[in-house]
Amino acid sequence: MGRVIVVVDMEGAAGIGHVKECFPWCPEYHKHGVVQLADDVNATVRGLRTGGIEDIFVCDWHYMGQNLSESKLEPHAKLLEVGLVEDLKKFLEGGYDGVVLLCFHAMAGTPNGFVSHTMIPFLKVRVNGQPVGEAALIGWLFGTYDIPTVMVTGDEVSVQQAEKFLPGVSVVAVKKAKNREVAQCFPTEEVRQRIEETAMATAQRLGQYQVHRAQEPVLMEVAFRTPNEADLAAAIPKTKRTSPRVVAYRSEKYLEAYKFLMVVYDLILYSWFGEAMQKLTATDEGKRIFGEWSHQIIEQWMREPQSLWYE
Ligand SMILES: [Zn+2]
Repeated sequence: MGRVIVVVDMEGAAGIGHVKECFPWCPEYHKHGVVQLADDVNATVRGLRTGGIEDIFVCDWHYMGQNLSESKLEPHAKLLEVGLVEDLKKFLEGGYDGVVLLCFHAMAGTPNGFVSHTMIPFLKVRVNGQPVGEAALIGWLFGTYDIPTVMVTGDEVSVQQAEKFLPGVSVVAVKKAKNREVAQCFPTEEVRQRIEETAMATAQRLGQYQVHRAQEPVLMEVAFRTPNEADLAAAIPKTKRTSPRVVAYRSEKYLEAYKFLMVVYDLILYSWFGEAMQKLTATDEGKRIFGEWSHQIIEQWMREPQSLWYE
């Protein structure tokens, strides 16, 4: 019985002790990171399954969402193709009985949190005046659909933060951060055993967890790396620039504030791609690739059947 969705980040995986293991441009990610991640997911899936959950969905939420492959996962896990960013509505209307936030990390600005951040590097988020991280943001998001967050794993500080915002949630701390780059992992086998047992116990108690909701109306504030980035966000309707690096958004409903945050996320990410693009096109290979792409776009444009409007 029951449907559970496991939202999987990466920084808070058991056995991942260095930031290099979290990103695909580092060999350590391929050699070690993705293996650890899949093992955490599998321990969770086995636990949920033993605890009686029939439908287990997995959402790959880290970086570009290509960190897990179904062939490496327990057969009962269904890897979702849509993410929390791309298709929110479809995602939230899955009719889940609970959400597990697996391998999460502490919020931006936490010095003793392993790879602490909120959504994108440098960004900081406050809700109703209180700094918050991803666990709270996503927990409240599911809360708007009456779905309780039932379990969280991550480093010690990250699970403490999660418990503060999502009271009553079951947690497993898998490591202790030495600093933002390095963590002391607890013995991996033991920790995975704990993840599996906690997932099982959570499944058995499903239905007894409380739904977590942000207090409404909501004041969502975002602080940016630079005033230029804040300029981009300040162009969104209904926003208020409260300082050179801070943009605020007020809404009656949390879901609307979360959607504002998603637009901010896209804007900043695209501005970063712009930065990367400048670097790329400064190289011969980059120029060639960009030239080829531009050529294709122009070709497509020239061949488009002409009409005065799109219906
Ligand atoms: Zn991540």
